[in-house]
Amino acid sequence: MPNRLRFAPSPTGELHVGNARTAVFNWLFAKKYGGTLVLRIEDTDQARSDSRFEDLICRNLKWLGLDWQEGPDCGGPFGPYRQSSRTAIYARHALSLLEKGAAYRCFCSEEELGRQAREARQAGVTWKYPGTCRNLSASVVAQRLQDSHPSVIRLRVRSGKVVFQDLVHGEMKFDSAVLGDPILVRSNGMPTYNYAVVVDDGSMKISHVVRGDDHLSNTPRQVLIYEALGWPLPVFAHLSTILGPDRTRLSKRHGATSLQHFLDLGILPEALLNYLTLLGWAPGEDQDEILSLEELVASFGIERVSKSAAVFDVHKLYFFNRHYLKECEPSRAVEWASAYLRREGLLEEVNSAVRQWVGLVVEAFLPGLDHLSQISQKAPQLWSFEAEKAVRDEGVRQVLSLPGAARVVDELRNQLSHEECDVVREWSSIVRSVKAASGQKGRKLFHPIRVALTGKDSGPELDKLVPIFEGGSQLELPHRIKDCRARVDEFYSAMLSQGLIPTV
Ligand code: GLU
Repeated sequence: MPNRLRFAPSPTGELHVGNARTAVFNWLFAKKYGGTLVLRIEDTDQARSDSRFEDLICRNLKWLGLDWQEGPDCGGPFGPYRQSSRTAIYARHALSLLEKGAAYRCFCSEEELGRQAREARQAGVTWKYPGTCRNLSASVVAQRLQDSHPSVIRLRVRSGKVVFQDLVHGEMKFDSAVLGDPILVRSNGMPTYNYAVVVDDGSMKISHVVRGDDHLSNTPRQVLIYEALGWPLPVFAHLSTILGPDRTRLSKRHGATSLQHFLDLGILPEALLNYLTLLGWAPGEDQDEILSLEELVASFGIERVSKSAAVFDVHKLYFFNRHYLKECEPSRAVEWASAYLRREGLLEEVNSAVRQWVGLVVEAFLPGLDHLSQISQKAPQLWSFEAEKAVRDEGVRQVLSLPGAARVVDELRNQLSHEECDVVREWSSIVRSVKAASGQKGRKLFHPIRVALTGKDSGPELDKLVPIFEGGSQLELPHRIKDCRARVDEFYSAMLSQGLIPTV
């Protein structure tokens, strides 16, 4: 039973969806089996690691709805949880490996080894460390250390097969002869990935190592390190690679793929979480793919984790997002949408009246949105009513060429001209009167009304737009919103000036 799992990101950049998927699977396992999830920061690559990314990764994981019980931020019994703070632990175990002869010091210079590797490549053969320092006598080693010769610590790889169980791939077998003695500790005292990960997983008592299959080829070396340390192996589960639509490994070439990017785009975390679970896992035959957290935890299991690569389909993610946007608490969408509109300079202070109005805007535009940031492309049309330009638009012209269109606009203007009329409350009766007076119905009625009010031949429902125009015109916004009366008056004048109102 998976009772201790870990997610071990390297803080060298933003969290990629592939790594986020690994985090989600670990989290689901932990939830499902009541296990503990450990967050470990793998920052041994000092040149590329940045604490800014560590903060961002933690914030993004929390945004996605994940939590962990042990980690650099919350501590725990097996800390520290940042590899850069564990150098003494790695050194201690390396020393014990040296003492029992399971590891040895290697004084070969990088230049020399690099030369050998290059020559092998030119000759078309695969190179592995030839074991030059494997059997140096203790006195030679002591002398070189005394002379301050730089050295690395290497594992003495045993001969024979390396076997481990993988929950996704089944039993995996490698011949150790292909491996070469891997470096455990570099000459600067920093551990290599393979060594640090084993010391950490072993000493943190990780029962199940669930990670991307890009690490599958590292695992035989790690197994040998476990053996050398005399520690039991965890169970491994290597998750399939995530591909882009062109079936090559998902990368920046396919567009932005970080969690932060999807957050900025206005993808709801529950939509992304649901979608990520389907990358390499499928619910049962009779189950829907849209699954609540509880359903996900209940139905998640390793049996249906697939070893074939999963394709990241952003349109499917948008489909999930549209579903969750429709379901989400309106106030969440309003907060988010307000932030986008503020960023565009369309809102300033967001008081309760503005918030209520943004609620109407969100409701009107939501059906056409893949993600919430699109509101900042859609909403500007509320402000940008320019009748003169609109009447020259081809689509608008077509509407105006419908029989009786000019009459509809004229009647609408008449109806709106009554000073005392409350346009929002009386909108349906206004439309009824326009219908009666113009004798038009259906699209011959509604299309001219739409173009006169919006300057466009398509868009959100008019019933939803009218309160937005009327309410918006009453608010102190950075740019004024015209009310219905102003719009239709302007539109009518533009039609007149373009000779679109028949003179009888
Ligand atoms: N730090 C590694 C990575 O980000 C993860 C290593 C592991 O899960 O074993 O790819």
